Amino acid sequence: MPTKIDMAKFASFCKDMGFIYQSSEIYGGINGFWDYGPLGVELKKNIKDAWWLDMVRNPPPGPDGQEIRMVGLDCAIIMNPKVWVASGHVGGFADPMVGCKTEGCNKLYRADKVYLVDFEGGVKVGVEANSKAEAEAASFDVAKRSKKRLPPNPAPLAMELVGLAKDGPGIATVPCPNCQELSLTEPRAFNLMFESNAGAIQSEENKVYLRPETAQGIFVNYRNVLDSTRLKLPFGIAQVGKAFRNEINPRNFTFRSREFEQMEIEFFCRPDESMKWYEYWRDLRKTWYSTLGIKSDNLVPREQGKEELAHYSIGTTDIEYMFPFSDEPQELEGVAHRGSFDLTAHAKHSGNDKLNYFDEDRWNADAGTRTTNSFKEWMKANPPADEIGKYQFTPHVIEPSAGADRFTLAVLCEAYTVEELKDAKGNPDTRTVMRFHPRLAPIKAAVFPLVNKDGMPEKATALYRSLKPYFNVFYDDKGAVGRRYRRQDEAGTPFCITIDGQTLVDDTVTVRDRDTLKQERVKVGDVRGVIEKALTPGA
Ligand code: ATP
Repeated sequence: MPTKIDMAKFASFCKDMGFIYQSSEIYGGINGFWDYGPLGVELKKNIKDAWWLDMVRNPPPGPDGQEIRMVGLDCAIIMNPKVWVASGHVGGFADPMVGCKTEGCNKLYRADKVYLVDFEGGVKVGVEANSKAEAEAASFDVAKRSKKRLPPNPAPLAMELVGLAKDGPGIATVPCPNCQELSLTEPRAFNLMFESNAGAIQSEENKVYLRPETAQGIFVNYRNVLDSTRLKLPFGIAQVGKAFRNEINPRNFTFRSREFEQMEIEFFCRPDESMKWYEYWRDLRKTWYSTLGIKSDNLVPREQGKEELAHYSIGTTDIEYMFPFSDEPQELEGVAHRGSFDLTAHAKHSGNDKLNYFDEDRWNADAGTRTTNSFKEWMKANPPADEIGKYQFTPHVIEPSAGADRFTLAVLCEAYTVEELKDAKGNPDTRTVMRFHPRLAPIKAAVFPLVNKDGMPEKATALYRSLKPYFNVFYDDKGAVGRRYRRQDEAGTPFCITIDGQTLVDDTVTVRDRDTLKQERVKVGDVRGVIEKALTPGA
């Protein structure tokens, strides 16, 4: 992986194994919402824990070899709605969309995903796709389903992304990708925030939003964190938590969901050092995915073009992954240089004049021939604005913003392998194995008694219980040992430990490696060390 796979089959494998279920499935599900099963919840927790450990508790040294100061935060999902006015979400957090006016169809599409495909003989097909290549591939199926007659050797003559094109043929010329009627509306804004009411009365005054990102909770707590920790620039505040977006078109399994989790850092720094920190975080975040088993060939950092940048952003790099459902890499994480946009906006809207920073270190370092040590005293002499700005300013912010669910999906895709093997009799056989990095694997080790007699279950239970306080381990004594290995391969368990006749003689067990299939004899007392070694960051 990730070569192209049938996502429907993959989703069904994920369901069967207990990684991911459709939400409320017994009622027919609900579009854009997913549940994590027993293996999935462990996998996603391991991803969030690895992120927290590697980015918040133990980030690598900064660009000049200095220690990085990071702290965490856990904010409420519902905040004062003024937060979303200040952040620009109430006014502008909207994807342009088009809708079909045909009775019974009424489908909605993101305008930047609607293609018009032209065939010979004037046959035109509307398609919803992520890329030109995808649009081309899908257009044949769409034409067939809608009974459009394609020429004998169909090949698209032209293909256009129409929805937002200024000088193109116009949306009125594009058949609806679903019903193929010429009935799409002009693109219009669609606010992606979910609304609710806080309190008993449903009114405009009580209207609140489910947060569409975790970042704003960090910005509005900037002064609180500064005051309670006395942190000095540069420093980062991190948060992991749910975000909600009423996506027009949730699709590609969990890739675009309406409820998802983000792992975000706001890294506050001096404006004149911000580019250095932007490069640091961009490079670090890409490397992080590789250290957790994502092949670097499948990871593509893409610097956004000027025309793509959000209005406040000085630079953004999307770290993209070659998901097997698309011909083009798709965003896993965005690393954005947000300048001082957010703190400035919140200072303006809240009237709080403390969302800035007094750079005491610089102030002291520049003491020189100054006659006073008091910044307040110094200010009374009306120094020039650029002089003041050296010591009192709004920090710049670098934001690495990752999706926990998107990365979970990438990890599942990357790990999924079907191997052709030979069985014990030399007959062809296949093995499905999830090659998770041991740090992410839902189960770290499985313990098996070879047979359920001769004191083996007792030994196996004792080993299982000795490992359980440290790792998620699994005990299995059902069926042939070969079958038990296969079940763990499908769950992605890196080690299978078997208690056999020899264990009773010399207290050694076999440790089978999921990837090499090699079995090593190890002293019972050393098993914990073998697992720990594989789980050590950077090992
Ligand atoms: P996209 O262009 O795919 O809609 P975005 O640029 O709007 O994403 P950001 O606002 O930068 O995304 O959010 C940061 C991260 O949150 C994304 O890189 C992604 O991993 C995750 N994310 C955003 N929207 C969704 C969603 N609907 N479902 C799952 N994860 C999401």
